[in-house]
Amino acid sequence: MIRTGRQYLDEISDDRVVWLGAEKVGSVTRTKAFRRALAFASLYDQAADAQHRDIFYATPADAGVPPEPEFKAFRPCRNSEELADKHLLHAAWCETSFGFLGRTPDYIAAGMSGFAAAPDAFRSEHFDARSNLQSMHRRMRERNLFISFTLTNIKRDRSKPLSEQPGAETNIGVRAVRETDAGIFVSGVKGVGTAAIYSDEIIVGSIEPLHPSDKAYALTFCVRPATPGVRLISRTSYSTANVEDAPLSAAFDENDAILVMKDAFVPWERVLTYRDTRSTSGIWWSTPAYACMAHQASIRFYKKLEFLAGLAYLVVRSNDSLSVPEVRGSLGRLVGYAQLAKSIALGAERDHERHPGETSCVTPNRHATYAQRIFAAEVYPKFIHELRMFCGGSLINLPVSLSDFELPEIGDALKSYWVTRETDPIERARLLKLVWDVTSTEFGARHAHYEQFYQGAPHVYLGQMTEAGRLEELARFANKALKKE
Ligand SMILES: Cc1cc2nc3c(=O)[nH]c(=O)nc-3n(C[C@H](O)[C@H](O)[C@H](O)COP(=O)(O)OP(=O)(O)OC[C@H]3O[C@@H](n4cnc5c(N)ncnc54)[C@H](O)[C@@H]3O)c2cc1C
Repeated sequence: MIRTGRQYLDEISDDRVVWLGAEKVGSVTRTKAFRRALAFASLYDQAADAQHRDIFYATPADAGVPPEPEFKAFRPCRNSEELADKHLLHAAWCETSFGFLGRTPDYIAAGMSGFAAAPDAFRSEHFDARSNLQSMHRRMRERNLFISFTLTNIKRDRSKPLSEQPGAETNIGVRAVRETDAGIFVSGVKGVGTAAIYSDEIIVGSIEPLHPSDKAYALTFCVRPATPGVRLISRTSYSTANVEDAPLSAAFDENDAILVMKDAFVPWERVLTYRDTRSTSGIWWSTPAYACMAHQASIRFYKKLEFLAGLAYLVVRSNDSLSVPEVRGSLGRLVGYAQLAKSIALGAERDHERHPGETSCVTPNRHATYAQRIFAAEVYPKFIHELRMFCGGSLINLPVSLSDFELPEIGDALKSYWVTRETDPIERARLLKLVWDVTSTEFGARHAHYEQFYQGAPHVYLGQMTEAGRLEELARFANKALKKE
């Protein structure tokens, strides 16, 4: 269905329990600190707009009567044309947020398309969730739902599996505490859930391998945030910032929260893996889900770098420093990195892979999308560093507010400090406030952290690169130089 922002806001105005410090928030859509639900609402409106609709929606061949268009991100790609088409969808929303909304609804929708393409991964020795997956995917597609996920387990003692962690019985990991014919009751805690407070449903699972003794924690399910027994504990909010002084904080704080569950009921039809350690983490890697999400991630990342490179150029121009050779060199490096980021996304599409199985689908190249994580985590801090270098000390002299330029007592002094040969003083301060928001506010720092961790910790993804199957091929190539005539 074509979902409007209003429909989305109405549907998340439910009884979900969200804590912000000492405050139990009544409704996420009516609380100032969480007003960024509006950012997601405007994405739905953008997609619903007749001018852009074809980028986001298509009517499937097997649609009912009357035929309902479906959000394309949920659809497994059948060929490279559809993959390129998905690129346009991801890119359109990334442009709207300049890459500062990591979890636009297409991110996990793309992951669901990867699940749907590999239903056999959802059948284990004692639990067959293939039909659950099928109906879950259909429900999400038909209602165009915004899904978030929490997949990280807390580590208290790294030498022990989850089941042997101190306090494991009470509040670490998420496990089924009892079963009935209708479903399971779950309790426990999960790490960061980005945009969970704004989502229609949350997928709870484990992406990292589980110890064979962790059967109780080996489960994946999908839950509505308003389910009794579910609580979300938010980090501090950045969205109360003044839009003039911190435009990105005010517009694009997507929120992160801890998920806490106590005796929350999950019907069987919402369970995707159960008491099986192998399939619980395996569904993220043996299906195209991760590569499909990484597709969005790689597009968002190059859009963000293009924005930052453009911002850097505006700063250099306003500082009148473009003619300095070192400055030009640094700027050139940023433009080059932005181009490389785009090339990774395009290269992954060009070298796409066909996932085998009954629902054969095309996915971006796994090696390229996995490698993108290293590139993103290492390059993002360089952009932040260069932006600071281009600005110099001016960044720290920013007035409290742009309206200070109008104050009779200090306005003229501020103007004479901020004016350059190239730029009006107020516009220059406005520009540098934007840079400060990227580099130095809580919002900016959170983004630097996001780019380094949201795709996993380095020791995990670097290790994965050695396991992803290319090392032997590379060694064979190197060995050729050792062969005698
Ligand atoms: C902004 C943000 C948003 C996120 N959003 C989500 C989300 O929506 N959903 C979700 O499921 N997750 C999310 N995450 C969580 C993210 O996936 C995890 O932070 C990431 O997987 C790393 O796990 P961890 O935090 O438990 O790190 P840990 O495993 O605790 O690792 C932390 C650090 O400890 C050290 N370390 C630990 N073990 C080793 C080892 N064996 N070898 C070497 N060094 C080691 C390393 O320095 C490592 O960087 C988000 C994270 C951030 C920062």
